[in-house]
Amino acid sequence: MSNENQNTSPRLFLIFGDQLNFDSLLFQAVNPQHDRLLMAEVLEESNGLDSPSSQQRTVLFFSAMRHFRANLKAQGFQVDYTPITDHCPDFTTALSAQLSRHPFDHLKAVLPGDERVRTTVTQWAQHNAINIEWLADHHFITQPGEFQEWIKNKKQPRMEYWYRYLRKSRNILMEPDGKPLGGKWNYDASNRRAFGKQGPNRENLSSECDFNHEDDSIVQEVIHDVKSVLPDLAGKLTHFNWPVTRPQALQQLQWFVEQQLPHFGDYQDAMWEEQPFLHHSRLASSLNLKLLSPSEVITAAETAYHHYQLPLNAVEGFVRQILGWREYVRGLYWLHRSEWPHMNFLQAKRPLPKFYWSADTDMHCLQQSIQQVIKHGYGHHIQRLMVTGLFSLLYGVNPSEIERWYLSMFVDAVAWVEQPNTLAMSQFADGGLLASKPYIASGNYIHKMSNYCQTCPFNPKLAVGKQACPFTTLYWHFIQQHYTLLQNNPRLAMQVKHWDNKSSEEQHAINQQAQSLFKRLSVS
Ligand code: FAD
Ligand code: SF4
Repeated sequence: MSNENQNTSPRLFLIFGDQLNFDSLLFQAVNPQHDRLLMAEVLEESNGLDSPSSQQRTVLFFSAMRHFRANLKAQGFQVDYTPITDHCPDFTTALSAQLSRHPFDHLKAVLPGDERVRTTVTQWAQHNAINIEWLADHHFITQPGEFQEWIKNKKQPRMEYWYRYLRKSRNILMEPDGKPLGGKWNYDASNRRAFGKQGPNRENLSSECDFNHEDDSIVQEVIHDVKSVLPDLAGKLTHFNWPVTRPQALQQLQWFVEQQLPHFGDYQDAMWEEQPFLHHSRLASSLNLKLLSPSEVITAAETAYHHYQLPLNAVEGFVRQILGWREYVRGLYWLHRSEWPHMNFLQAKRPLPKFYWSADTDMHCLQQSIQQVIKHGYGHHIQRLMVTGLFSLLYGVNPSEIERWYLSMFVDAVAWVEQPNTLAMSQFADGGLLASKPYIASGNYIHKMSNYCQTCPFNPKLAVGKQACPFTTLYWHFIQQHYTLLQNNPRLAMQVKHWDNKSSEEQHAINQQAQSLFKRLSVS
């Protein structure tokens, strides 16, 4: 805490809901005797057009914020807090109210996770002649400006090389001679196993009963407030079970490292009916609210590797997600910050099918993947990429519609991480900034990686007919629709060739099937 500025102008420090870390730069700058802090639960961030939020996500954010406020007060900070029951429409209204209550002429805040919020608050400050300073976000492993410097001369930047650069420069999972531990940078090929007919071993499987964070009195109060002020938010609140404090998040980290990390690698991409969590960590929401730092999560995994001889493919696979992907998408988000909302490289225009909000569909993989999001605010990466995301891509949903769905429904969604994942990785709306090709597959991929198809009325092998799997029909339709783009991509040329090898009758029948699917889903 700083003594700087003790007798000068009054200052306000604004803390956003995803900045709940005491080691942030803000706490180095604040003077508890002279400065005030503001936290606000505003309607726009819960039911706004650009920033909708489900019941699970809203309760998570508000509960974690109210816990943080209690902690701040206990430490002697002067905190002003606007609860959702004040019906404050947005951050600018909260700031104006604060200005009249406790005038200030300096505003400081850590860079928010959403460019829209940064722009709005900056404009408000300029309009009110308030001096605003955005502090760098030191939660991340990457230093400010480091990603821009790294990417500057790369013709075809890819996450893998960024990840190697960070492993070397931060000495993570490295041999003393500068080579990667075990001799390879990447064990991805060992991390794509399906569970097989017998399914996952239920003895070491993660379940919704592993924790019980719902009994907390602050969570109870938030649930009450959200139900009364925002009764129409999407999703369900039958069971809320996400960490809302740092001790809870640390408990979850320890549980993951001990119980699930050993199995994480092999089955990272696998899916199974009625098993929403499998061996995944469920740590993204705690990381994104900053209850945990990425460095401590990586250190916990690396330490466990050395102490308990955990499988390297599991530990490396997990570290790659956080050190590689998480830091990479953040860099990319800020690099293209004003472009994301307008991206639509494939010119996709269809509205999001209604079943994304209800799970009311006979496609079993989608029913399962959406149902668990409605209930828990959670789906693991392959469900997001290769079920809900894949269907949207093949069906041709307008990227901004599917983007809003992901932002609203997942507890871990914050623009900086959700937008590059949805718009770039999943929907190819960026035209290839992040990935070298669209992630497309037929129903056969889902069949291989899960047991969803076993109880589905459709057959993943069929593209035409009553039992045709919509994924398979739309996969071929997508290839035909984007033929030139895919033909010129060496990684997809083979798939295009398979389309070429179909007879014109077959191609015509697939097209007819796709058209009737579009018609059926647009009215259902
Ligand atoms: P685990 O599978 O246990 O992975 C460990 C950690 O690695 C995660 O907690 C997360 O912090 C990090 N991670 C893994 N993959 C990624 C990735 N691609 N980008 C960034 N970090 C990653 N992640 C979010 O944190 N918020 C989002 O809003 C989000 N939206 C997504 C939307 C789509 C369409 C897709 C395809 C992916 C999205 N992801 C998002 C990435 C990833 O799916 C989630 O981080 C992960 O599923 C969260 O579950 P977990 O904590 O159990 O992760
Ligand atoms: Fe999904 Fe097709 Fe399998 Fe049904 S058959 S579960 S729609 S992939």
